[in-house]
Amino acid sequence: MYEIGHFINGKHVPGTSGRTADVYNPATGEVQAKVALASDAELQAAVDAAKAAQPKWAATNPQRRARVFMKFVDLLNQNMDELAVMVSREHGKTVEDSKGDVIRGLEVCEFVIGIPHLSKSEFTEGAGPGIDMYSIRQPVGIGAGITPFNFPGMIPMWMFAPAIACGNAFILKPSERDPSLPIRLAELMIEAGLPAGILNVVNGDKAAVDGIVSHPDIGAVSFVGSTPIARYVYGAATANGKRAQCFGGAKNHMIIMPDADLDQAVNALMGAGYGSAGERCMAVSVAVPVGEETANRLIEKLTPKIESLRIGPYTDEKADMGPVVTKEAQARIRSLIDKGLEEGAKLVVDGRDFKLQGYENGYFVGGCLFDNVTPDMEIYKTEIFGPVLSVVRAKNYEEALDLPMKHEYGNGVAIYTRDGDAARDFASRINIGMVGVNVPIPVPLAYHSFGGWKASAFGDLNQHGTDSIKFWTRTKTVTSRWPSGIKDGAEFVMPTMK
Ligand code: NAD
Repeated sequence: MYEIGHFINGKHVPGTSGRTADVYNPATGEVQAKVALASDAELQAAVDAAKAAQPKWAATNPQRRARVFMKFVDLLNQNMDELAVMVSREHGKTVEDSKGDVIRGLEVCEFVIGIPHLSKSEFTEGAGPGIDMYSIRQPVGIGAGITPFNFPGMIPMWMFAPAIACGNAFILKPSERDPSLPIRLAELMIEAGLPAGILNVVNGDKAAVDGIVSHPDIGAVSFVGSTPIARYVYGAATANGKRAQCFGGAKNHMIIMPDADLDQAVNALMGAGYGSAGERCMAVSVAVPVGEETANRLIEKLTPKIESLRIGPYTDEKADMGPVVTKEAQARIRSLIDKGLEEGAKLVVDGRDFKLQGYENGYFVGGCLFDNVTPDMEIYKTEIFGPVLSVVRAKNYEEALDLPMKHEYGNGVAIYTRDGDAARDFASRINIGMVGVNVPIPVPLAYHSFGGWKASAFGDLNQHGTDSIKFWTRTKTVTSRWPSGIKDGAEFVMPTMK
């Protein structure tokens, strides 16, 4: 049993609120740690540290700020195995998958090494007689990030790397389900040369989140998690005058056209539907084969693969997927499957009763496959966030396109086809933020930006890419004229650039 406190002003700080949450090993169901849940006083200590350290950090030239990230990337690579195990132990996913979690975050740290270039701005010489005009991007001051359980490495880094590179101090409130890695990342940032107080980790629950969204000294809030909480955090943060970007849930469709390479599509569905036990915001949870023949062939090829998924604890190096994160998540997934059956969908592969010898108390759910799902069913409308793939049969391309178009969520979508014209039409018309053409999980790389549409995102700037530099800085525009231009005396009409 270990205890996880906070990381404030460059130091580990034990919790003092008297409130804690249990951190489970999802493979065994055992409580392995207690994580502190912050009080207002602990959040305030982090804000005080951030406030004291930020001006000097902002005044540090961008090349020096970049060098901290160069060293940090090095440290991540050196410690990769340890970091991945740390994720798997609390999240439950396989160690190789956890490495992907850390690496996708590391890539954003590599991207922000370009901060000297990324933060350059605009200058117009001679905008008027003797007048120069320029815009500068200045840090917001103190930024905060509230992150979900499913990527405890990647999403914190997507937030704190650009925020800190831009000269901000940062307060991270990680998920209480798997809080160890975020603390370790903060330690490594200090080892990489970051001054104390610039990256603080405050563990907590709703109380800490409410403290963040209402704190007068926090200027920007980034949130990733489920849609109801994203909507709530966006509303509260913006009502308090903060800028906010809040990313929510998803229901990602994959359209399989009759001309698609079916083996490729099936492999893509296996990885995107069941990898990480379906607990990814970019997981594919709806397959839409076009035409009866495509649908029948798809089900035929998918079924044996789902039945032979290797499910195990993270210590099983050969496992394809692990358990889901909590007992509640397991119960919720099972009850949604029951609901699907009640509503008339056909459960082709039933993983509800999956049990693993020696891990009977683990939160395992076997791979499930539903056929004949229709848009009015709960299993179609709701994000299940488990290893459950629903097949919705479409008669033709327009009917297939209509499904993700009309769905509440708009995070990711994919089309499998050999027809460039269909793919081009699809990418152009679809109302979803991230589109894959023969790519199942179209998560953009660090130098592009990540974000959904519709109920999958609230706010107007995406994560990473150049959007993140805009989000974590404010624009100031300076119009300057030097004394020789003033000698003409006062002007009483509205100045224009003539
Ligand atoms: P969650 O919404 O339960 O929790 C996210 C964060 O909000 C956590 O830090 C949690 O402590 C906090 N929180 C929880 N309840 C709260 C409340 N009532 N008030 C204030 N704060 C609260 O999400 P989760 O279960 O950790 O993560 C899974 C969800 O995240 C899924 O819906 C998934 O699709 C989504 N997600 C989205 C993206 C994206 O980029 N769009 C990426 C990853 C995960």
